Amino acid sequence: MDLIVLNARLRGRNRLTDLHISEGVFRKITDAGESSTTPQRNAGARTIDAGGNLVAPTFVNPHLHIDKAYTALSGRNSGEETLEDSIRIMQDIKRGYTVEDVASRAERAIRQSVLYGVTKIRANVDIDTIGGLIALKGCLAAKERTKEIADVQLVAFPQEGIFRDHGTEKLMHEAIEMGADVVGGMPAAEWIQDEARRHVDLVFELATKHGLDIDMHMDQSKDPFDRSLEYTAYRSIAIGYEERVTGGHCTSLAYQPAAHAAKVIELLKLARFNVCVNPQTLAIMGVDQEPRTRGISRVRELVDAGVNVATAQDTICDGFHLYGTGDPLDYGLLMAYQAQYNSTRTAGIVFEMLTNNAAKVMRLGTYGIAEGNPADFNIVFAPTESEALRTRSSRLVFRAGKQIAEYETRGKVNGQAMAIVGEGA
Ligand SMILES: [Zn+2]
Repeated sequence: MDLIVLNARLRGRNRLTDLHISEGVFRKITDAGESSTTPQRNAGARTIDAGGNLVAPTFVNPHLHIDKAYTALSGRNSGEETLEDSIRIMQDIKRGYTVEDVASRAERAIRQSVLYGVTKIRANVDIDTIGGLIALKGCLAAKERTKEIADVQLVAFPQEGIFRDHGTEKLMHEAIEMGADVVGGMPAAEWIQDEARRHVDLVFELATKHGLDIDMHMDQSKDPFDRSLEYTAYRSIAIGYEERVTGGHCTSLAYQPAAHAAKVIELLKLARFNVCVNPQTLAIMGVDQEPRTRGISRVRELVDAGVNVATAQDTICDGFHLYGTGDPLDYGLLMAYQAQYNSTRTAGIVFEMLTNNAAKVMRLGTYGIAEGNPADFNIVFAPTESEALRTRSSRLVFRAGKQIAEYETRGKVNGQAMAIVGEGA
């Protein structure tokens, strides 16, 4: 063995567990203390006592805009703080993109994510006539530079629309030829509903032609008459693309009458559709009168109906959103608040959204702590999911059995060491 983790608390397992790892893979998973390996066989293995803290598969961020990340580090000046304002600010920033500028910021976003224990990222990359393919070239470079520490999928994302932004259709074809992994979409960017439908149809045409999955920004507005989500779910059943389609945001669902939303949710379930809810986009929904928006879809109804719901960071300090760290325990905590998940059971639902549900979005076949799987995991220094979320605790990050990051949340008060929880390391 190369690495042994003792006294790990695995989610859904009552007893503490020992994990035996060699050549980058979980070889043996046993109840704590029941290991049959002899001391001789373990000679030279690094041994870590997790001390009853959580050990979970590395986090998955299934929706992040790495091309835009950190473009607002020196500030974001929005006159009206509306979504339209944000789009205009971001378009101005995009006009100044260079390949190396995008590559270095995207690389930083990936490395920062790894620090927080995220080793799998699905990243949206703008494809439009403003920046052309510059963002994609930069993100492909960033993906290459970080391939030892992270698995990154790139989504060809027509942020400005496909028909509204003449020339984007051709760029989408080129983006896929250049190496985009997933076909994105933004039907809400089109002027009228008919073109939004044509947009969805074109995305399906591209995806089926190249055998790629689909991940679209869907009905990301407060408009109760948005209908692209249900149309997309319907199309994915019609062409046999169940499980392969993800809708980001899906906020309009929260504004639709309950009876209509219930029908859409039933259709999403039939389509085995993935919904990715990004709670920090609350900041870009514009400023409301009371009652104010929560900025998220009907999370509780979707989860209760059995739809796969993941959650993600979306944006980090860009023209849309001044804040955001990339830490899943940050946006997971906000998710818990916005969905009013305030119990041990529902904290577990949030943790599922950050791990297994997000892995289903990226369709990662070998994800999770199981014998034979790649040893990609975090030791999270908290005994429960709710404590991990409450404290955004310290963690050690492992990929293929090698430690690649260490994130610390401890400090000193008047010279005395302090941590938010009684951390074991
Ligand atoms: Zn997004």
